[in-house]
Amino acid sequence: MSRQVLIAGNWKMNLNHLEAIALVQKIAFSLPEKYFAKVEVAVLPPFTDIRSIQTLVDGDKLKLRYGAQDVSRYDSGAYTGDVSGPMLAKLGCAYVTVGHSERREHHGETDELVNAKVKAALKNEVSPILCVGEPLEVREAGDHVEHTTTQLIAGLKGLKTEQVSKVVVAYEPVWAIGTGRVATPADAQEVCAALRAKLAEKYGDQIASEVRVLYGGSVKSGNIADLVKQDDIDGALVGGASLDAEEFTKLCALA
Ligand code: PEP
Repeated sequence: MSRQVLIAGNWKMNLNHLEAIALVQKIAFSLPEKYFAKVEVAVLPPFTDIRSIQTLVDGDKLKLRYGAQDVSRYDSGAYTGDVSGPMLAKLGCAYVTVGHSERREHHGETDELVNAKVKAALKNEVSPILCVGEPLEVREAGDHVEHTTTQLIAGLKGLKTEQVSKVVVAYEPVWAIGTGRVATPADAQEVCAALRAKLAEKYGDQIASEVRVLYGGSVKSGNIADLVKQDDIDGALVGGASLDAEEFTKLCALA
């Protein structure tokens, strides 16, 4: 089955809502409209930018998708500072990243919490982009496949089989994020193929063939083409390069 390529720009904690509007306009108007039928492009801004992007996308009927970088495990309540799945859904978010290594590291997010957030997103019809990936010492020990497939299974725990096809998996080796050190296409393919094989083992071949598996970690216009050529890589989660309109649209055009 053919899976539509997805390029998702993770803006992290960058750009206020005015800067967000300017960047989205540049991205949307630099790519020909027919391009968006081939490749799905999404931006994942900070929460404070989402309402402005929604207005822009709806008003101009842009084909660009958008989402968020985190979601609470709860729908509402006394959870100061958190943002819930129903709130993201109301803002038209298509995606939310869950379990990004920066949240695992700086916010102590465990596999159990990541799993609860995956469920919260799905319950609200927002597709989680479940991030998995090994730190450098795990790769050096040769345990990267075991590490990432274990994170995958933990993140999906308790989901119904049909829910799994709505999840996007992002393989992001921690040592490649924001470092300029991209995984080789063969190394990225090895892990993405192992993740898909694990999905097949747990949920069957059909589901495994539907789930999109992205690579993330220092993706740029200069390396995207070789990455998406790999059989099991269906696009990219892009950090730094997604903040530069020219570079990001070039990268999308080469995907
Ligand atoms: C990310 O934050 O998900 C990421 C892949 O960052 P970068 O592209 O900057 O390595």
